Amino acid sequence: MNQRLSEIKYCSGEECRYVLVFHKTETDSAGKTTDSDCGTVTEIRAKKIILAMPRRSLELIKSEFFENEWLKENLQSVLIQKAFKMFFAYENPWWRSLGLVAGRSVTDLPIRQTYYMGTECEQEGGEPTMNSLLMASYNDIETIPFWKGLEKGKEFVGYQPNQTECKYEDHKIVPQHEYQITQEMVDTAQFQISVLHNQKGLPTPYSAVYQEWSANPYGGGWHEWKAGYRIDEIMCRMRNPVKEQDIYIVGEAYSYEQGWVEGALNTAESMLEEYFDLKIPSWLTSDKDYETWLKANHNYNFLPLSCPGCTCTLENNPNICGNCKEVLNEVTEFAYEGINNVER
Ligand SMILES: Cc1cc2nc3c(=O)[nH]c(=O)nc-3n(C[C@H](O)[C@H](O)[C@H](O)COP(=O)(O)OP(=O)(O)OC[C@H]3O[C@@H](n4cnc5c(N)ncnc54)[C@H](O)[C@@H]3O)c2cc1C
Repeated sequence: MNQRLSEIKYCSGEECRYVLVFHKTETDSAGKTTDSDCGTVTEIRAKKIILAMPRRSLELIKSEFFENEWLKENLQSVLIQKAFKMFFAYENPWWRSLGLVAGRSVTDLPIRQTYYMGTECEQEGGEPTMNSLLMASYNDIETIPFWKGLEKGKEFVGYQPNQTECKYEDHKIVPQHEYQITQEMVDTAQFQISVLHNQKGLPTPYSAVYQEWSANPYGGGWHEWKAGYRIDEIMCRMRNPVKEQDIYIVGEAYSYEQGWVEGALNTAESMLEEYFDLKIPSWLTSDKDYETWLKANHNYNFLPLSCPGCTCTLENNPNICGNCKEVLNEVTEFAYEGINNVER
């Protein structure tokens, strides 16, 4: 579509409550999307709006709507978490000789996780070669700045792998990408991979790419609730934050299943049922296991608690122990006894 929603204007009239202002965008051959130079703007009229987008995307939209006090206070109730992935292509799956076939290894080095992926000749319709893919790094949050610091410098050019049916053009060995990987990033990750596997002289990758999730319009890969916010109330109200307006917000950011697609789907489904009077689709409940799970965990409303949120108090909550202090003392005594016995 290559259109960016830049502004929502209020308007009055039977046929229109809102005017959505879209800016034309362009995606270049490396996959980078920016506003188009021609400055084309399209205006669309709408009676209702569903904004299915995360916190940073919402913050970038100009509108009187976002001046609402509750919304201003609670849009910031979630932390935006950055994410990063790096892939290396090798001429053979060297990890197989270490007994590693699939799955991942985890480390406290900045690469954090390495995933063992496929080999060309084992793929359906693949080339008869041993060319193989490794997710060299899957990291997030505090390790991102380590890799951001290596982004500037000589681009990684790779080399022509020996076993290919047809040669790659030199400039295509390493794909042109929105984030162009540098030699230093590859060398550093390759060193950490050697340390992680306790190996010396591993083959070097012939190609590499990376992607990071921190730029606009996303701001990050996923979200986490901040402490001190009533997430039950916010989750319910965020779907229609300003009662007088027919503007709805859904997505993973303000959901119970943050970091997962389920968060986006559950808030969207609950919003459609509550505000658009749509019934739960029959194909969702035709899976009896899923229906049982949905009833037990979400009481059919796709949010963990019925809206407007938890109304229970500490006094009448059956999960409150009542004699917490005694229970804690007893447990602590027991733990000390254990420690003393070990010391003896
Ligand atoms: C590295 C990584 C790995 C993940 N792995 C998994 C996984 O294994 N399993 C899983 O369930 N989930 C995973 N997730 C999370 C999952 O991708 C998200 O939870 C999900 O995509 C959130 O959906 P959403 O609809 O809330 O937001 P998004 O998917 O971010 O959708 C928002 C959309 O709005 C568009 N948009 C933003 N601003 C504007 C604007 N101004 N105008 C027009 N359009 C706009 C964006 O382009 C985007 O298409 C992963 C995420 C990352 C980053």
